[in-house]
Amino acid sequence: MKFGGTSVGKPERMHRISELITGDDEPKIVVLSALSGTTNALVEISACLASNERTTARKNIDKLEAYYKQFISDLLKTDEAKQKALHEIGEHFEFLNIILKISFSEALNKDILAQGELMSTKLFSAYLTEQEILHELIPALEFMQIDSFEEPLIGNIKVKLTQLLNHYKEKKLFITQGYICRNSKGEVDNLKRGGSDYTASLIAAAMSAKVCEIWTDIDGMHNNDPRIVEKTVAIEQMSFDEAAELAYFGAKILHPASIWPAQQFNIPVKLLNTMQPNAKGTLIVEEAGSVGVKAVAAKDGITAIKIKSSRMLLAYGFLRKIFEVFEKFRTPIDMVTTSEVAVSLTIDNKDNLQEILRELQAFGTVEMDDNQTIVSIVGNEIAKTPQVMMRLFDSLDNIPIRMVNYGGSKHNVSLLIPAEYKLQTLQVLNKGLFNL
Ligand code: ADP
Ligand code: ASP
Ligand code: MG
Repeated sequence: MKFGGTSVGKPERMHRISELITGDDEPKIVVLSALSGTTNALVEISACLASNERTTARKNIDKLEAYYKQFISDLLKTDEAKQKALHEIGEHFEFLNIILKISFSEALNKDILAQGELMSTKLFSAYLTEQEILHELIPALEFMQIDSFEEPLIGNIKVKLTQLLNHYKEKKLFITQGYICRNSKGEVDNLKRGGSDYTASLIAAAMSAKVCEIWTDIDGMHNNDPRIVEKTVAIEQMSFDEAAELAYFGAKILHPASIWPAQQFNIPVKLLNTMQPNAKGTLIVEEAGSVGVKAVAAKDGITAIKIKSSRMLLAYGFLRKIFEVFEKFRTPIDMVTTSEVAVSLTIDNKDNLQEILRELQAFGTVEMDDNQTIVSIVGNEIAKTPQVMMRLFDSLDNIPIRMVNYGGSKHNVSLLIPAEYKLQTLQVLNKGLFNL
């Protein structure tokens, strides 16, 4: 069971989730995110340090500390429990204050970002202890591991976690941190923003769990982005493939990589609402459950690159040469379309953009468009569903579409549009595809 930032972000919510996790006798591993807002605050503190704005960093640390002190006072009842928690959380603020004095590094940044999950789990464990709920707080840094390519090592996670759990044979309830892990150098690292979902799915896969429950602040995966579009509805069931596409193409409710571990080990994933525990939520399993379009999602920060060359005409091996440039710079490609004289593709990682553009020039004229958005239409057997394509393009009458990807899989049509058209696109699709 994984509880996100808003689910643990208030003392009364922590009280609530203690009820949710003790509702039955099943053994459980509970993964917690940082309290909502904390990771953002830590990112800011780290950025201040990086730019040597130490006074601002200190102010932010003090503000965060005051917030945690109040949280402890509202979370716990007895003075004894409060004092103990204040002392434990105090150590993390001591650490933050010490790092104010040392020079910034990437490794230090990761240490700073890890404080949120370390603190939220300690607070929750303190509450469970006060309530006399038998449990064990197990450190994610002792079992959650990634390799030098930042890929999780499920085999190692399984061995280490099993060893750890074997120490506590009499216990059935375990609490651990989402998001944080150790890298191949043994340093503290993380699974990128929103990574607690990924932690949960990796643990579920490693331990062959019966189910992986992702508890959040909404009643499941909706048909459209509820942050942007007014009327959206929850989807009852979808396939791993559909959920993976939605997560990857921008549905924030799931970390982009969080589906594959569950899918590989065929573990059902449930998206549930902490604030409305009786709502149905979304079940993600192998079977899609129904045919047709399920949802649309949008992914920002996309760069489109076009390589135009008359040499492509009748040439084989041309695409390989182009793709090799991206491989060399470890940059994944999201969309690809080709014509006889040009290839257009998109990337979301701009770390090596200049080098990539330079090397591509060997193959033809290169054009680049920044600030694009991918809108993905995801469902089951989209092509076989009558009128979907017609309704899709009818609704997009006034939107300048830069690229279309169709046919790559049975459950996705992707469009590339300039970012400023995202809102309008998601709104017209809500009407055109879902009648909402
Ligand atoms: P948590 O802190 O629990 O991990 P997140 O904020 O990461 O929660 O994810 C939940 C949020 O995702 C929702 O509040 C909602 O605004 C957003 N969201 C974006 N797209 C979707 C979607 N298609 N369905 C449901 N929620 C979505
Ligand atoms: N606390 C981390 C973040 O805000 C991880 C998570 O919430 O999933 O990105
Ligand atoms: Mg999240």
